Order: sequence, then C-alpha cells, then structure tokens
Amino acid sequence: MSFQTDVAIIGGGIIGCAVAYYASKLGYQVTVIEKNELASGTSSHCDGNILAIDKDPGFDSQMAWESQKLIDQLSKELPLEFEYRLPGSILVCETEEEMEAAQRWVNLQKDAGLPFRMLDRQDLKFESKYLADDLLGGLECGTDSTVNPYLLCFSLFEGAKQNGAQLRKKTAVKNVDYKHSFYHIETDQGDIRAKYIVNCAGVWAPHVGEMLDLKIPISPRKGHILVSTRQVPVSPRKVMEFGYLMSKFGGERRVDEKTDKYGVALVFEPTQSQNFLLGSSREFVGFDTNVNWDVVGTIARRCMRFYPKMKDMDLLRVYSGLRPWTKDNLPIISEVEQYPGYFIAAGHEGDGIGLAAITGKVISEMINEDKTSIDIDPLRFDRFEKKEVIL
Ligand SMILES: Cc1cc2nc3c(=O)[nH]c(=O)nc-3n(C[C@H](O)[C@H](O)[C@H](O)COP(=O)(O)OP(=O)(O)OC[C@H]3O[C@@H](n4cnc5c(N)ncnc54)[C@H](O)[C@@H]3O)c2cc1C
Repeated sequence: MSFQTDVAIIGGGIIGCAVAYYASKLGYQVTVIEKNELASGTSSHCDGNILAIDKDPGFDSQMAWESQKLIDQLSKELPLEFEYRLPGSILVCETEEEMEAAQRWVNLQKDAGLPFRMLDRQDLKFESKYLADDLLGGLECGTDSTVNPYLLCFSLFEGAKQNGAQLRKKTAVKNVDYKHSFYHIETDQGDIRAKYIVNCAGVWAPHVGEMLDLKIPISPRKGHILVSTRQVPVSPRKVMEFGYLMSKFGGERRVDEKTDKYGVALVFEPTQSQNFLLGSSREFVGFDTNVNWDVVGTIARRCMRFYPKMKDMDLLRVYSGLRPWTKDNLPIISEVEQYPGYFIAAGHEGDGIGLAAITGKVISEMINEDKTSIDIDPLRFDRFEKKEVIL
C-alpha cells in the first residue's frame, strides 16, 4: 500500500520548504520529496538577498515588498535563526546616463509607495571609503534585507516539521499519474498518494512536469559567485552596479566583450561573518555547473573596477548555481487547469530566496481555496500559451 499525504511537495529547495511551512501551518499533512538533501539545488548555490531594488516597478516590486514583510515576520516566528538583517541596499552608477535612468527608476518605485531615494557622490563616500572615486552616485532601497539562504531553508522546514510535515530525502520522483482525484507518485523509494501536488523542482520543474505531459517553460541560467576570506568591513550592506538591471532584464550595456558575454555585473554582499560574496554572471549553458575560470576572472576584474582595494583580497572558494529562468522574468505560481490540485511554484530566476515567503503563502492559500495575498494572474502557468494576435 502506498504512503498517503494531503500535500506532496516535489523539491526541498527554498520554495518547497516555504510551501511546506505555510501549508502545514494551515493544518495540511505535508510531505516534502527531495532527491538529494534539503537545499542541495540552487538554494545553496546563490546569494541571500531579499530585494525590491532590482524588481520591475509595479507588480514585480510590490510582490517583492510583500515577501520582504513576510520574511521579517518569519524572523520572529521560525524556530531557527537564519542571519536575517535589514540594512537596505544600493545600486551605484558610472555615467550620467545611468544617473538619469536611476532617477526614473526611483520615481517609479516611489510612486508605487516603496522607500527609494537617490544618492550623490558624497553619499557614496559616506557609504564606504573603498568605493571607486569616479562613481557619480546611485540609489537606495530601504526595505531590502539579507539572509543566509541555506539556514532559511532549514528553518522553514523545521517550522513545517513542528506542524507535522515529513521529509523523504534521497527520494527521487520517477513518475506521476492522476487517477480518481488523487496523484500517484512513483519514487525510487516506494509510492506516495496525494490529494495535492506542488512542483517545486526549480530548474528540474520541466522534467517533473513532463511526467504528466506538461510543458513548463523554465531554463537553467548559470551564475558564478566568488567568496572572499574574512575582511575588514568594506561596505556595510549590499551594493550592485546599475548595469545589473540591464544584465538581468537583457538590456544593452557599454562594457568590455567578456563582461557582456558572461553577463557579469557587480553584486557585493557582506555576510554576517564578514566574508564577502562577489558576483555575478548570467549565462545559458545548459545544466553545466562546472566553474569557468574565465568567468571568475571577469567577475574579479568587475569587482575591482568598483572597489579597487579588492585587489588585496584573498579568495576562499568559488561556486556556481542554476537560476530557474522564465522568458518574462516572473515565476510560475499557479494551479494547472487540466489537473485539479496540481500546482507549480518554480521559475524564480535570481529572486527565489526573496520571493520564497510570498510563494509559499500564496500556494497554501490556493490549496485552501482562500483569497490570495497578491493578484496571481501575472504568474499563471497558461500565460505562455497566449498567442499574439496579429491584426
Ligand atoms: C549565483 C546565484 C545568485 C543568486 N542570488 C540570489 C539572491 O541574492 N536572492 C534571491 O532571492 N535569489 C537568488 N538566486 C536565485 C535563487 O537561488 C533561486 O531562485 C532559488 O534558489 C530557487 O529555489 P527552488 O526551490 O525553486 O529550486 P532548488 O533550490 O533548485 O530546489 C529544487 C529541488 O528539487 C529537487 N528535485 C528536482 N527533481 C526532483 C525529483 N525528480 N524528485 C525529487 N526532488 C527533485 C532538487 O534536488 C532540488 O533540491 C541566485 C541564484 C544564483 C544561481
């Protein structure tokens, strides 16, 4: 006889753990099925920024803001501490053109109610004496926070466990069938029967979807991170270059060939222990997670352009991860029309840590047939099927 659960969550990354926490909090019996260990996928090969600063003004930034508020609440209610800090973050500009674009970005975000403001050269000097002298200024978002993503995953699951959730680790889902209003999940460790299923398999979500002939349009977008040894406090909080927005949303940049080819833009993140996470890159190279030293060199050079003093830093390690990318840069947080009780929560690209809380909350609201905390229409699975009408 197969094991039975209310909600089967496929994937124990940050998204699966967040769904497990919020669904178990509503009283559902939850089982997370993970082919390796918790947080063994992208959720341990990333930074830990909880950002609104890099979100498209409007729906995207509002959703991020809602998630920031939930993560603040989680820092008070989850059983394990996860290095949560709320210092805000900044983007720095190299040119007058970027300063003008930054001003437009700030105006749009402020109109939407977010606490953004412009920074001048003097503000940057006050921010860090190590920033390059020729930078013109930038912008700040006051609600941006940071976490240790690995610890947040474990803390979310620990919270879920206290609500009765179970974890089947080292258990790979091999097939899914839908019969008599139940999902029959075949794993390499026995079968599981569930009323609801949530596909939280990140870059592997398309593979899990294929088991029911679902075409889920998510592709892996690789990113590298460099970790420095413990340092003097170079900057107190997260700093990115304005060009990061272009690199994320596919805009044109005036940078050298390699910086452009590897989608490199400065992302500087001080961890609680004052190691620095330095990134990052964006490439479509399939599922290859090998470190490419040419990309590492390009990131290091980009960091030194903004922080010349970084030439004296020692490197501790380097890693790369796969962002689950969708073509409109929004995740899929949706029920699947043809399969009642089948949900997809995947495709968060470089925002999954930040958006985990709102994703978990909204999926649990959908399972419970409650009104969702945000409008989920822009996140629907079938939005990719809509054909362009040519008149
Ligand atoms: C370099 C880099 C920097 C980043 N920085 C940030 C940041 O600062 N802030 C931010 O918000 N986001 C950031 N991200 C993005 C973030 O890491 C991802 O969006 C997020 O981790 C995705 O989480 P997930 O749970 O969807 O996927 P994953 O963490 O990959 O989890 C999916 C899980 O599903 C499991 N699985 C797959 N197939 C099966 C199967 N058949 N059976 C059972 N289990 C299965 C996998 O083993 C895996 O553990 C970054 C990403 C990268 C690469």
